[in-house]
Amino acid sequence: MSAPDLIVVGGGLAGLSAANRAAEGGLSVLVLERGEEPDYFCNSRIAGGLLHVAFRDMTRPAAEIRASVAESVGGDGDPATALADLLAEDAGRVLAWLRAEGGAFVRGGAPEFMRWVMAPPRRRRGGLDWKGRGPDVLLRRLTRNLAARGGVLRLGSAVEALAVEGGRVAGVRTAAGAEAARFVLIADGGFQDNPELVRRHLSPQPERLFRRGAGGGRGDGLAMAMEAGAAAVGMDRFYGHLLGLDAFGNEKLWPYPTLDSLAAVSLLVDGAGRRFSDEGLGGVFMANELARLADPAGAAVVFDDRHWREDAADNRYPPALNPSFPAAGGRVFEAPTVERLAEALAMPALAETVAAHNAGRHEPARTAARFPAKPLAEPPFRAIRAAAGITYSMGGLAIDRAARVLDGGARPIPGLYAAGSAAGGLEGGPRAAYLGGLAKAVATGLRAADAMLAEGGE
Ligand SMILES: Cc1cc2nc3c(=O)[nH]c(=O)nc-3n(C[C@H](O)[C@H](O)[C@H](O)COP(=O)(O)OP(=O)(O)OC[C@H]3O[C@@H](n4cnc5c(N)ncnc54)[C@H](O)[C@@H]3O)c2cc1C
Repeated sequence: MSAPDLIVVGGGLAGLSAANRAAEGGLSVLVLERGEEPDYFCNSRIAGGLLHVAFRDMTRPAAEIRASVAESVGGDGDPATALADLLAEDAGRVLAWLRAEGGAFVRGGAPEFMRWVMAPPRRRRGGLDWKGRGPDVLLRRLTRNLAARGGVLRLGSAVEALAVEGGRVAGVRTAAGAEAARFVLIADGGFQDNPELVRRHLSPQPERLFRRGAGGGRGDGLAMAMEAGAAAVGMDRFYGHLLGLDAFGNEKLWPYPTLDSLAAVSLLVDGAGRRFSDEGLGGVFMANELARLADPAGAAVVFDDRHWREDAADNRYPPALNPSFPAAGGRVFEAPTVERLAEALAMPALAETVAAHNAGRHEPARTAARFPAKPLAEPPFRAIRAAAGITYSMGGLAIDRAARVLDGGARPIPGLYAAGSAAGGLEGGPRAAYLGGLAKAVATGLRAADAMLAEGGE
C-alpha cells in the first residue's frame, strides 16, 4: 500500500473505531498492532462488555448522563476530568455507531449499567472468559469491516517512534522501517503494564499491584508522543478493582470476582488493621488508595456474617463473591470474635478500628451517599486479604475535544491524535472517577476520525 492517510497505533476498540470511521469517510488507513495472532490479546477483547457512561443507560438524554458524570467526578475544574462531559454528549452516538457496525447487545441484568452488554455476554463465573464473548466478537467484526473498506490491519508491528517533519507528525517507525502518513492516532491502551511509569505515577510498589488486564499497555504511545512535545494529564489514577490477594496464584480469581461491593459497605484496612481510604467512594477509589500505600501488603477487607450473606452474595455483576471466592480456592479468614480475627490476621489495631466503625467514628472520613456503611455486629467475623488490581491507566496524553494531542502550551501537535486509554482528561481526579473504558475508547476514536476527515485527507 502506498503511504496511507492515517496510521493507527494499536488495534483495540479505540483504534478500530477510529480506523473504521476514517475509512468509511474516505481516508486510507493502516492499523499497526503489536499482537501477532488474529485474536491478539488487548483489554478491549477481554473486557466485561458493559457499555455505559457513568453507569447510565447509553440512550438516556445527555443532560441526565451529564449529571451522573458530574456526580462521579465530584467538583469541576480538575484538568484530569475536564473532558468528561464529552462522554455524556457522545453516549447515544457511540451505541448507535457500534450497532450500525454490526455490534450486538443484550440486557445483562436489572441495574442500569447492564442495559447494553456486548453479546454474547461473558458467563457468570470467575476467571477470564473472553473467547467468542461480546467484546471479542465485536473486535473481529470491526476488523472485517475495516478490510471491507480497504483498510489494513498489520499484525506483529510494534510502533517504536513518531516521525516529525517541520513540526508536524508525519508517520511512525517500526522495527521494519519508517511508515509515512498524514495523520497518526495513538491508541495503544495506556501505561498500566510499564512498572517504571506505574511507580512514578500510581504506586511505590508496582510489583504488588495485580495486573488485571491483557498486559500490553506499556506506555509506548505516551513516550513517543511526549518526545514529540505532547503533554500528559491526570496521570495519578487508574481504573481497577479490589481483588483477593490470592489472585496472584489463582487464575479463577481474576478479573472477577472483585471485593468492591463488599468492601464498600464494610471495612478496608491496612496491614496493621487501620482504615486508610473512604470505602463509601467505591472499589475503583479504594484500589487507587491501596496502591498508593507505602506498603500495601497485608491489607484486608473485614466484614461480618450479615455482609457475607447479603452484600457478598449480591450477584448484580457476576460472579458473586459468596460463594465463588472460597469455591475457587480463595482464603476467607473466619473467627467468632473480632479479637480472634485480629490475632489470625496479626493486625494489632483491628479491634479498635471495628469499634470506631460501629460507633460511626471514621478517620479518614467516610462518605455514605453511594454506599452507606453497615456495622460489624453479627458473628462470625471474616476477612479476605486484598490486592489492588490495575486494569488501565486513566491519565495519558492531553487531548482537546477533537482528540488532537496537545503540547505543553495546550496547542495541538499537527497530525497527532490520541484515543481510548492512551488519552487523558476524561477520567480520574480526586475521586478516581471511572466513567466507562469502552465508551471512552469509541467516543474518542470517532472524534479523532471526524477531526481528520474535517481536516481533509489529501
Ligand atoms: C478484564 C477487563 C474488563 C473490562 N470490562 C469493561 C467493561 O465491562 N466496560 C467498560 O467500559 N470497560 C471495561 N474494561 C476497560 C476496557 O476494556 C478498556 O478501557 C478499553 O477496551 C480500552 O481500549 P483501547 O483501544 O484504548 O486499548 P486496548 O484494547 O488495550 O488496545 C490497545 C492495543 O494497542 C496495542 N499496542 C500497544 N502498544 C503498541 C505499539 N507500540 N505498537 C502497536 N500496537 C501497540 C496493544 O497490543 C493493544 O492491542 C475492561 C477491561 C478489562 C481488562
